Amino acid sequence: MDINIKQYSLNELEELFKKLNIEKYRGRQVFQWLWQKNTRDFMEMTNLSIALRKNLSARYVIRDLRLLKNIGTSDGVQKFLWELEDRDLIESVFIPEPPRRTICVSTQVGCPLGCLFCATGLIGFKRNLKGFEIAAQIQRAQEFIGEKMTNIVFMGMGEPLLNIENLFVALEIVTSSIGLGISQRHITISTSGIIEGMEKLLNSKWKVKLAISLNFVDQAVREKYMPVAKNNPLKEILHLARLYSEKKEMVTFEYVLIRGLNDKPDDARRLIRLLKGFPSKINLISYNEYPELPYQAPEPERILEFQKILFDSEHPVTLRKSKGKEILAGCGQLVARP
Ligand code: SAH
Ligand code: SF4
Repeated sequence: MDINIKQYSLNELEELFKKLNIEKYRGRQVFQWLWQKNTRDFMEMTNLSIALRKNLSARYVIRDLRLLKNIGTSDGVQKFLWELEDRDLIESVFIPEPPRRTICVSTQVGCPLGCLFCATGLIGFKRNLKGFEIAAQIQRAQEFIGEKMTNIVFMGMGEPLLNIENLFVALEIVTSSIGLGISQRHITISTSGIIEGMEKLLNSKWKVKLAISLNFVDQAVREKYMPVAKNNPLKEILHLARLYSEKKEMVTFEYVLIRGLNDKPDDARRLIRLLKGFPSKINLISYNEYPELPYQAPEPERILEFQKILFDSEHPVTLRKSKGKEILAGCGQLVARP
């Protein structure tokens, strides 16, 4: 038989074992072997009887992602191209910033939202990733790098909040003490601002960090460059962001600076006005250029000027160092081409 056991969540494994008339806790043990111990052979699961190991080997296979390509830069950034079981392709990016080791993971094959400035948007949408395919990007990267990740950002291909059920399954695997054991305080989800998903996340048990890709302060302009904004108005996004901050963690607003579109001093002042009285962080990202897209990064002086205006506001401001640009591993550059 050729059923992939790795696709099952902990609950599903326990149920599966119950159905097979095997004690439920064996499901936990197998989950631990698969995720915490990264086992790829049932015969290595030494706390199961030999008979059970053989039984499982006869019924199931252990499979996740196939590494097709790995390229790195001098500053240590590495981009992984993975092949999924159905041969679809996705990418993840490892970003070392000692003492932190961050992995940026994908949640969808492509993205359905088509933001005009984003290369992932350009390739369109193929499908949602399953929970185990999301979590396996972290596990495989750890195996390849030879060290545990300290931080996870859901900022790769796709919109995490449009795939929230599978995102939650991945979070279970990633945070579980018998899974990858990474604390949710070190996990950030980036969203273009999906109201329904933000509500679900707000009402869930998860207390992960939330980053909102604001990018434009004006609703009409935002709609022009981010079509998703039409059905997800800024006003509602800000309202939910506020609730999230109050109930969970302070949110971050991401602002990709694009030459001539949103990089003027006046844009900075409007940004301050928009977020006035709302305790939140601002993360500026200089636009990562992409060969097939017409947009450009602002001149460095423009970025400094923009940043300086924000420094005088109530918000902590950071400028994200764009690492990995030369291998097209920066934000908005992931297209998973072999
Ligand atoms: N779909 C989610 C997460 C993936 S995109 C979201 O939009 O938030 C991750 C981040 O990359 C977003 O903040 C997005 O605005 C930004 N981005 C997209 N294209 C970019 C580019 N070419 N250069 C820099 N950042 C970009
Ligand atoms: Fe999708 Fe995010 Fe790119 Fe927009 S910026 S197309 S939401 S991945």
